[in-house]
Amino acid sequence: MKLALSDEDQAFLDEVLAFIVRHWPPSTRRPLEAAAVYPEQRQPEEAGWFDALVARGWSVPHWPVAQGGTGWTPVQRYLWDRETAYAETPRMDAYGANLLGPLLCAWGTAEQRDRFLPPIREARVRWCQGFSEPGAGSDLASLSTRALRRDDKFVVNGSKTWVSGAHSADWMFCLVRTHAETARPQDGISFLLVDMKSVGVEVAPIRTLGDQHTVNRVTLTDVEVPVANLLGQENEGWACAKALLDLERVGVARVAQSQVQLGRLKAFAGTFTQDGGTLQESPDFRRKVAEVEIDLAGLEALELRVLSQSGSGELAGPQGSVLRLRGAEIGQRINELFVEALGYYGLPYPEALLIDNEGAIGHDYALPALQGMLSSRSWTVSGGTSEIHKNSIAKALFEPGQV
Ligand SMILES: Cc1cc2nc3c(=O)[nH]c(=O)nc-3n(C[C@H](O)[C@H](O)[C@H](O)COP(=O)(O)OP(=O)(O)OC[C@H]3O[C@@H](n4cnc5c(N)ncnc54)[C@H](O)[C@@H]3O)c2cc1C
Repeated sequence: MKLALSDEDQAFLDEVLAFIVRHWPPSTRRPLEAAAVYPEQRQPEEAGWFDALVARGWSVPHWPVAQGGTGWTPVQRYLWDRETAYAETPRMDAYGANLLGPLLCAWGTAEQRDRFLPPIREARVRWCQGFSEPGAGSDLASLSTRALRRDDKFVVNGSKTWVSGAHSADWMFCLVRTHAETARPQDGISFLLVDMKSVGVEVAPIRTLGDQHTVNRVTLTDVEVPVANLLGQENEGWACAKALLDLERVGVARVAQSQVQLGRLKAFAGTFTQDGGTLQESPDFRRKVAEVEIDLAGLEALELRVLSQSGSGELAGPQGSVLRLRGAEIGQRINELFVEALGYYGLPYPEALLIDNEGAIGHDYALPALQGMLSSRSWTVSGGTSEIHKNSIAKALFEPGQV
């Protein structure tokens, strides 16, 4: 698909491409997974990318201009997101830059904005999100982590689960119950900003199916949090949480990332031989690739349509749900095709490799492909399961006005 760009947008695109080539040249590019923004894993060239972003004022394009945003139009933001995804540049910390930052801009006090926004904008701090609990996932309002107010502090006790990146985060934004006897479970919840270095914060890893460590259990025992770290009104944190969950849906279709991955799959299929021919010559495999390619082109068209209809570039709930659901399913299919393409070599299980110490037989890509496929299963769970998003789409269709 080709966007018919105005002269102004074309000039913007040229400027973006020149910036990317200068600060993230092809020689530095690595797979998406390896470019996760965890400082201890950062390569010198990644730090250079963030420095260049900050110096150019492009680190948080979607924030209000007064707080360091760029004031780009939705089309310009789309072009930026697309080109940085194609080039596989390092990403800003999503929890800080994409979720908490905009929320602080809208709901934070002047002191909170002055204190917390600059380190996020300058890529100096990492945040994690402590919403889910062992008994509260989709039904988030049933959360039971308690925060009792004592003078100018809250004392927090409870446990959060599936917290992505908690092991390398400096801060956690979380939901806690500050009032137990309320008419609705959504009432009596508050939104707190917790320093991960506080006494009483414990982080334990949860290893996922592909034997990776991205998520954690966080236990909070008598953790003292200053009242100054309360975002929004006490007992009314649900409104902040809802605003944040809507932000989670912006840019969720992963179109550019899936296009990159599909390109890799096609290149790989052209080199991988099976039964005397390349996989690319197999009609069955070609059909599967073509099906996913068509669906991806459809998703891209849908994303552009939604974008062109939305003046602000933000999505309303059900539109975000459609894009998110479809994008996750398409991404999962591409990951599954990779493992299918590897045939028997797609089976190495990380634990087995650790035990026999001999490494994988076959293609080097086998283990990352399997891990990629397994971790992509979470795309239809985290940030709201498929069923929850389908509920939201159905509500918009059949009970408009109540979403
Ligand atoms: C890799 C990964 C990273 C995550 N990162 C974070 C994080 O950083 N911070 C954080 O707070 N959380 C995080 N989560 C948690 C995630 O938000 C929850 O897993 C998700 O909300 C689902 O909750 P649950 O696991 O408790 O499942 P449940 O809510 O118990 O759901 C179980 C099943 O029941 C279905 N179901 C539940 N309610 C309904 C309903 N009303 N209608 C139809 N079906 C329903 C669900 O679709 C699901 O299939 C992460 C999860 C994963 C897998």
